[in-house]
Amino acid sequence: MTQQQPVTKSTKIVATLGPASSSEEVLTQLILEGLNVARINFSHGAHEVHGETIDTVRRIDGELGTYTAVLADLQGPKLRVGEIAGGEMDLVEGGTLTVKVGTGEGKDGVVYTDYEAFAADVKAGERVLLDDGKLALRVQETNGKNTVVCEVIHGGPLRPRKGLNLPETKVSLPCITPKDAEDLAFALEKEVDWIGLSFVRRASDILELQEEIKKAGKHARVVAKIEKPEAIEDLDAILEATDAVMVARGDLGVEIPMQEVPLLQKEIVRKCMAMGKPVIVATQMLESMIESATPTRAEVNDVANAVLDGADAVMLSGETSVGKYPINAVRAMRQVIENIEAKGEVQYPERPPLSPDDERFISDSVCYNACRLARRTNAAAIVTMTFSGYTAIQVSSQRPSAKIYMFTANRRVLSQMSLVWGVYAMPYTKMVSTDHTIADIKYILYKAGRVREGDFVIHLASMPIADAGMTNMLKLSRV
Ligand code: PEP
Repeated sequence: MTQQQPVTKSTKIVATLGPASSSEEVLTQLILEGLNVARINFSHGAHEVHGETIDTVRRIDGELGTYTAVLADLQGPKLRVGEIAGGEMDLVEGGTLTVKVGTGEGKDGVVYTDYEAFAADVKAGERVLLDDGKLALRVQETNGKNTVVCEVIHGGPLRPRKGLNLPETKVSLPCITPKDAEDLAFALEKEVDWIGLSFVRRASDILELQEEIKKAGKHARVVAKIEKPEAIEDLDAILEATDAVMVARGDLGVEIPMQEVPLLQKEIVRKCMAMGKPVIVATQMLESMIESATPTRAEVNDVANAVLDGADAVMLSGETSVGKYPINAVRAMRQVIENIEAKGEVQYPERPPLSPDDERFISDSVCYNACRLARRTNAAAIVTMTFSGYTAIQVSSQRPSAKIYMFTANRRVLSQMSLVWGVYAMPYTKMVSTDHTIADIKYILYKAGRVREGDFVIHLASMPIADAGMTNMLKLSRV
């Protein structure tokens, strides 16, 4: 190993991989620049290509000694219009557009969608948005079977395969479509770490996916993508059920008025921190870098604000999947994160204690006090020993300024935790005694240059160590 990924930042970077970034050479550079989570977007591309990309990530990890998380993002019930004759149809304000259910080629004021229940689900007066909301229609009438006549409210050119959003309609499609089921089976076979579920509407969508993962005998965790008004209404229950969250600002800003997204982003991040659920802020963070080697000043501010809000991770989409400058984009993101974390005040909420009857009461209380102690002593590191990663997430959700090092014998959790704010995971399988383990781990951190002589280190563990129970012990010591 000649180069190492820097442990300089706490906020993690998710980058979507695609033709611009899936080669071994570019991916290696992205990981060295600070990429922590590789996102595979199942809305595009073939399984064979995705499989090769996942293999490449794992191979590079083996070479660099990194633990990149792989996030398989399922398309979900994304609605689209079909093909269009001549590649474009001009929609004129005040005119009509008829949307038919089927797979034909659109022309002469008619377009098709393969969403079977479209005419049955929509009602007169509801809005239909096309191409990320650039074009807007209002339903005039539906025959309830296969034909919907709409008035054009905002016109413009409509191109083939553009997205169709129905912010006012109860869409009857299942959360896991037949395509998602196939993609999920493939992703689980490839042992991905996280599964992203698009267009989540209710907590039961998450439970359904978790059940499918369990049935497959796998342990991937779920990221609930918040991008529907229904999800905002059921937010608390969704956060309770899910393992992590993505503020999917692209579709969210089409489904609800886009001026409401900034405050919602802050509210979701705050709630996630209070509940100990990792949260990703996504979409258009450095959008101009698809074409340009440097970001706009407004984009730099957007990344900085997400970091200050306390997001676990910030995400790149087209910037790294199809953009001209994927390496510059990850580097720019890292530089903004490093600068803000060094100088800014990351928000964190004071956490309400769990009920003393909760089975996690002892470990939560120990984690809470570890963070207070870290602030009081200006500790360099909080070290957790964990099998599930729970303790690391609990400590992380209080955003301590100490680095969080997680030692685990659980290979799966090593890469899963790459999504979590401030957590750096290392494998550890020796379980001699608590005293020996603490001394041994301090030595490992010292040898790796993670702590220096004189630094304070806080250890969290479970005693007796052989029982591998929940965290119940805190030790403060000096290197
Ligand atoms: C989004 O809408 O912000 C988003 C992340 O979704 P997609 O999977 O379509 O990129």
